[in-house]
Amino acid sequence: MTRRITHWIDGKPFGGISERSADVYDPATGQVAAQVDLADTDTTDLAVAAAVSAAREWAQSSLSVRTRVLFKFRELLDSRKEDVAAAITAEHGKVLSDALGEVTRGLEVVEFACGAPHLLKGGFSENVSTKVDVYSIRQALGVVAVISPFNFPAMVPLWFVPIAIATGNAVVLKPSEKAPSASLLLAELWEEAGLPPGVFSVLHGDKVAVDRLLTHPRVAAVSFVGSTPIARYVYGTATAHGKRVQALGGAKNHMVVLPDADLDLAADAAVNAGFGSAGERCMAISALVVVDPVADDLIAKILERISTLRTGDGRRGTDMGPLVTKAHRDKVASYIAAGEEAGASLVVDGRDQEFDGDEGGFWLGPTLFDQVSPEMSIYTDEIFGPVLSVLRVRSYDDALDLVNANPYGNGTAIFTNDGGAARRFQNEVQVGMVGVNVPIPVPMAYYSFGGWKNSLFGDTHAHGTEGVSFFTRGKVVTSRWLDPGHGGLNLGFPQNT
Ligand code: NAD
Repeated sequence: MTRRITHWIDGKPFGGISERSADVYDPATGQVAAQVDLADTDTTDLAVAAAVSAAREWAQSSLSVRTRVLFKFRELLDSRKEDVAAAITAEHGKVLSDALGEVTRGLEVVEFACGAPHLLKGGFSENVSTKVDVYSIRQALGVVAVISPFNFPAMVPLWFVPIAIATGNAVVLKPSEKAPSASLLLAELWEEAGLPPGVFSVLHGDKVAVDRLLTHPRVAAVSFVGSTPIARYVYGTATAHGKRVQALGGAKNHMVVLPDADLDLAADAAVNAGFGSAGERCMAISALVVVDPVADDLIAKILERISTLRTGDGRRGTDMGPLVTKAHRDKVASYIAAGEEAGASLVVDGRDQEFDGDEGGFWLGPTLFDQVSPEMSIYTDEIFGPVLSVLRVRSYDDALDLVNANPYGNGTAIFTNDGGAARRFQNEVQVGMVGVNVPIPVPMAYYSFGGWKNSLFGDTHAHGTEGVSFFTRGKVVTSRWLDPGHGGLNLGFPQNT
């Protein structure tokens, strides 16, 4: 019988009233591995109701209690990270080492959240007026929803969940229905760490569940990560319903290579960032912008490296796994056909490569295009697959103009040995996360993650101090304790004396 993946509501598995379900695939075999429940409105309401009743008490629990749970969760996640990674590989397809890498990056956010007592400290001013003190506090929002994409089944939820919980909120996580199992392992670990029931729930589902969360009157805030059209929709709908929203969208990340760059370093970086996780990363490099005259040399070095890559089942020690679904694999393959048709030079074709895995897997090898121009769909669209496009430009200024004209602004990188050029780039580029000789500049947990332009809707980036601000509301208290010197009646605007 096919395995059934149920919700986790109020501290336990919940499989009661699900009417619909979706297939979950093992992308390395193409077989249906499980069926995941898809919540309807009633189930969504149940999850929110459980969160509402847990949120009040959790917000009132002491910082010491909350921090203890966080530390315990950190230890448990660290000790079970191989299991979480295996669950990711089984449903997403990324190779095991990469899956382990994402859990490790998620753990870093848990570690950051363990510092909640420090992060929540307010300010205090004594005697702002005679015998009057002012202090600021930050309080939890209540119930928050986290809606996450398929490509980081553990790391993306962990960008938000530990901080939301540490700051006293209850969370309903709606993970991607394509890779739902890792979130349930996280739920078990939270429970084992001593988190009270209802503070963290997992609600599986699709648009039906998302729409209810976006409009539910008791959901105070929404953290969303996914493609740009859905991010825009989520932002518009949830803000129209009075919610605080951060909606992180898609990307088209450029790596600029200046002629003085270390070309071996640049070639390694382009291959790692272009084909790692089969290009299914929001920080993947998909446009390689090479300033004359080094494109031929760089491409030769990239080709050498591609020839050593093994595509196959991520459990077999390969370099690159399959794509997440057949539909996605076919969509990426159709972009390769479109690139050829548009006149780009197809240097390596991922459609006819060998792979180390089951025939039925959703395979597509690394693909390299040269002579790509900005109007081609392989450049304009986020392909989200192992397709790297080389765009040749004449100067640094042309490279910068290209990056800045792109509607996305998630991540970018410059490769150069010229400190002045790198400094100019980090100053002039219209992108939220910038790497200098670093291809995937994902900020550490204590900085904040987020793009510009169509890569993020809302004001607040994920994790770091912006994450703490997002999940809390500020309050300022002005206080005077009883004193023999009462001020008496005064209808004027308060002034300090
Ligand atoms: P997606 O937009 O299809 O799905 C994201 C979430 O939205 C899922 O939970 C899904 O169930 C839900 N959803 C899908 N369609 C919906 C609809 N019509 N209405 C309401 N909810 C809907 O994204 P995906 O394919 O799972 O993930 C890949 C995308 O995520 C890429 O575009 C990638 O760039 C982006 N991403 C961005 C970041 C970032 O930090 N900016 C990080 C990871 C992934």
